Amino acid sequence: MPWRVVVAGAPNVGKSSLVNAIVGYQRSIVYDRPGTTRDAVVVETAIDGWPVQLIDTAGIRAATDAIEAAGGERARSHLAHADLVILVAEAGRNESEEEYVKILAEHPHALRVANKCDLRRGPGAIGLGGQQAPLLDTSSVTGEGIASLIEGIAWRLVPEAPLVGEAVPFTERQA
Ligand code: GDP
Repeated sequence: MPWRVVVAGAPNVGKSSLVNAIVGYQRSIVYDRPGTTRDAVVVETAIDGWPVQLIDTAGIRAATDAIEAAGGERARSHLAHADLVILVAEAGRNESEEEYVKILAEHPHALRVANKCDLRRGPGAIGLGGQQAPLLDTSSVTGEGIASLIEGIAWRLVPEAPLVGEAVPFTERQA
């Protein structure tokens, strides 16, 4: 059975792009099974030799209609069965949204990602602070943080895996 890694977050934060970036980096896609518009897309890959299913949920939001509600239910069901949740925000934008806070409360060990970090560069870049600050900056456009994200996934799923002398990412809590 592959590990189940569920990628969650609001619409347009870049979940699909991140899944593609991970799989492109690994060059190891096994299959890509598109669901219905509001369902998840499941991509099977290998990370550090371990079979991993990346489950790209449709945007999880407070249901506004029946279709959204069905999609939300499926997304929640995926989340409930996840070995690891990757919670994606567009850097500086979504972290205070109700759904984000709720998912984080239900999945406190979620790997928090601030995507589109390329948009935060230069004058006027927003600094992130506080306990809710995502742990990892990524950009599926520049590729920044993708290798770290893959390492982070492997580390969370297989914590005993790193070899002696190998660098491993720590969260402040783990340190
Ligand atoms: P999803 O709805 O969360 O799956 O988001 P998508 O992956 O479809 O991305 C939404 C939009 O954001 C698309 O136009 C992407 O090209 C763009 N996008 C995704 N990741 C990045 C990123 O890291 N940087 C920038 N600048 N744009 C991004």
